[in-house]
Amino acid sequence: MEMIPFEKAFEIVMNCGFSMGTEVIPFADSLNRVLAEDVFSDMDMPPFNKSSVDGFACRQADLGCDLEILETIPAGVWPSKVVGEGQCSRIMTGAPVPDGADCVVMVEYTELSPEGKMRFNGAFTKANIAFKGEDVHKDDIVLKKGRIISPQDIAVMALAGHTAVTVSKMPVIAVISSGSELVEPSEIPSVSQIRNSNSSQLLAQVSRAGASGKNYGIAADDEQQTLSIVQEAISGNEMVIITGGVSMGDYDFVPSVLERAGVKILFSRVAVQPGKPTTFGLHADAVVFGLPGNPVSSFIQFELLIRPLIYKMMGHDWRPPISRLPMKERFTRKTADRMAFIPVTTTGDGFVSPVEFHGSAHISALPDAGGIITMPVGKLVIEKGEIVSVRQI
Ligand code: AMP
Ligand code: MG
Repeated sequence: MEMIPFEKAFEIVMNCGFSMGTEVIPFADSLNRVLAEDVFSDMDMPPFNKSSVDGFACRQADLGCDLEILETIPAGVWPSKVVGEGQCSRIMTGAPVPDGADCVVMVEYTELSPEGKMRFNGAFTKANIAFKGEDVHKDDIVLKKGRIISPQDIAVMALAGHTAVTVSKMPVIAVISSGSELVEPSEIPSVSQIRNSNSSQLLAQVSRAGASGKNYGIAADDEQQTLSIVQEAISGNEMVIITGGVSMGDYDFVPSVLERAGVKILFSRVAVQPGKPTTFGLHADAVVFGLPGNPVSSFIQFELLIRPLIYKMMGHDWRPPISRLPMKERFTRKTADRMAFIPVTTTGDGFVSPVEFHGSAHISALPDAGGIITMPVGKLVIEKGEIVSVRQI
């Protein structure tokens, strides 16, 4: 199958047409989920003219005189008296401002006259009243569909009385690592084995992207065994990610296994560095990615292709955070026929610097990388001081 440019691969993935349905959950459980409905307020906010300070509610015109104190209005209590000329009511923050008053003066700027009246001794600056409906009107949209729910959003839902919220279902994503050399992280590898880092890494990436991961463990480089795990993974989940076995080696069975499992392969070579053998296909039940076994490649290809798709499936138009920063040093490469993704670190002095990196198996270099920069096809050099777009990871 021909090698395609990264942009084409991205377009194929993003237009694969898989999307999730919705479900209704308690709003307090909705953190990081994608909101699948507009949320309306069932009331004005604030719901009444509300004092924003502790002090005295009165008429601004009367502030030059000593004012009779009618009552004390705590938060949560409706005033019982209308404030007239020469009068005021003691009022607490959050309490309803009594009719007749057009301002609240802060207690700090008042004193009691010998007759027990309130005397304002400050300079008038503002009314200190949060007016009914000034933040939100009843039936206004307070949260728009498609956003990722934050703690602040949950506060808005609480205020709006929106206690059951419609969110997109989370895709369940099966993760399989293939390779006869792999053992689980809890095991001690023999001389010819290595620990499986991809599964844990990908499951963590899946959960960071707001989806739910399911670990299908390690498949040996055995066509039949891989096929049965792949079939099981496809039938129970919306997405399957299998790493390893997509290159040109004698034991790289994954593409043929995917085809035998009924997956229509849409691409299997992408002009990227690292991650060239990245494979993508569709099954009636699931979208399927075959990622290279090299941990750095699978990390990067997940970020570039899979993370945006997960969000899209949930109805969220996700864009990675990008910062524009100058390069600390000159960076060169020898060939420019593929788009390169280079893990970089941001130095304390505001520059970016590629992380020391021995190749795509060098996963221990990645924790220092806060971002990825891109070198398009045809570009061999990034000059020292050149401004680059750093995609945060
Ligand atoms: P492959 O894509 O199967 O040719 O594997 C490429 C390289 O990545 C080999 O050195 C593998 O040992 C390594 N590798 C494959 N799968 C994993 C994994 N799950 N965790 C860590 N390294 C892996
Ligand atoms: Mg392998």
